[in-house]
Amino acid sequence: MSLSPNATVFIISAPSGSGKSTLVGELMRQVPKLRFSVSYTTRYPRGNERDGEDYYFISRAEFEARIAQGEFLEHAEVFGNYYGTHWSERERAAAAGCDLVLDIDVQGARQLKEKIPDAVSIFILAPGRQVLEERLRARSQDQESVILRRLHDAAGEIRNYTLYDYVLVNREVAASVDTLVSIVKATRSRRDRMENEIRPILETFS
Ligand code: 5GP
Repeated sequence: MSLSPNATVFIISAPSGSGKSTLVGELMRQVPKLRFSVSYTTRYPRGNERDGEDYYFISRAEFEARIAQGEFLEHAEVFGNYYGTHWSERERAAAAGCDLVLDIDVQGARQLKEKIPDAVSIFILAPGRQVLEERLRARSQDQESVILRRLHDAAGEIRNYTLYDYVLVNREVAASVDTLVSIVKATRSRRDRMENEIRPILETFS
């Protein structure tokens, strides 16, 4: 399938503990021609995170210089660190014939929707507070205060779900991955994205 010259931008946001990383990882594995947008951040790498693969890890001074140069398509401060998407990410995806997948927070999603109105946005939600709390506790040795703050932040983020085109309630991983894959496939079949493919077909009938 030939893709339109402009990469479609898929924005995926979720409060921490919603299972977003697993779902996004599976989406990238199952659907061809998707490119994951590597963000810049001022936070330190965790565990086996690699510079240039998970994030570009830079200092606050460098981040602020890049903001001043207008290098970011969007940027935000999340949990005391800067995060931002470089404007070249979309062009690189388009040059590779791919669509772009962004894992960004609600502030970033709002900025991107203004700049790229046809971006497709998806909000992932845990099925309830209790499940979110259980997932946060299961996955980390975080202190009680950190877990409580994440739950509190999640409550604030969840209220922004109305910004998004799609809401995915993550009850069961396989079903959620199917839904995510379906959203991408359906978007790729939109008429405006099919023009390049339709034209040669129509010519065979003329
Ligand atoms: P983490 O530090 O756990 O990797 O990410 C923390 C939060 O920052 C997540 O909600 C993630 O979606 C968000 N985030 C990651 N990259 C970006 C970015 O480039 N822009 C914005 N606005 N948020 C981001």
